[in-house]
Amino acid sequence: MRDPRRLGGRRILRAPISRYYSVAGTAPRDAQAAGPPLSHAPPCPDTIGRNRAGRAVYAAPGAISMHDLEQLHIVHYPDPRLREQCKPVTQFDDALAALAVRMLQLMHEARGVGLAAPQVGILQRIFVMNHTGEPEDDRIVINPVLHNPHGAAESTEGCLSIPGVSVKVRRAERILLTGQDLRGQPVEVPTEDLQARVCQHETDHLNGILIVDRMGPTDRIATRKTLRVLENTYRGKARR
Ligand SMILES: [Zn+2]
Repeated sequence: MRDPRRLGGRRILRAPISRYYSVAGTAPRDAQAAGPPLSHAPPCPDTIGRNRAGRAVYAAPGAISMHDLEQLHIVHYPDPRLREQCKPVTQFDDALAALAVRMLQLMHEARGVGLAAPQVGILQRIFVMNHTGEPEDDRIVINPVLHNPHGAAESTEGCLSIPGVSVKVRRAERILLTGQDLRGQPVEVPTEDLQARVCQHETDHLNGILIVDRMGPTDRIATRKTLRVLENTYRGKARR
């Protein structure tokens, strides 16, 4: 999700992924950023596939090489990977930690407040977020579930996968987020306001739902042209 407060604002520079995670696949170098050392698990090369458009789809982080991680980028509407129902994460290993760190890096580079795995072509239930922009507020959420929504508020949202589009979306004002951390331990976070909105936006992504599915008739008309341009751009790239 785009940061609604800092569109065009300051850019947050982050260290390269190698600072947090050894390229050789050993334990994370920065314990504070990536958590304590994680167990090793063998890669699963048979989980790499292709979607209908011929684009690579990774069913599990273990299938991704370090080279692939560096190549990951944010995919744009109407890439069909954004419409897939993501699978629960079952392997909590170094590959998952490396993916999460790379997603945080991409999110910050794009000045976002949230980024879900399908937005980088990974069809797994994981998202990252940082609703303040402060380094200590980086969060990695795996297998998220939302509970006990309270209140409702309408606010403008943008999406890193739908550049140039901002629409009004009605969301719960407060919501309880549960899920797992990088080691598979349960986490529980009461959220409100922007953080609650980010959690709902990113969880939508894991179910193949985009803000264009939640916009009202006025935004539908206002965004029609931009969405058509994105569709034509995608078709042009898919043909190449
Ligand atoms: Zn989004």
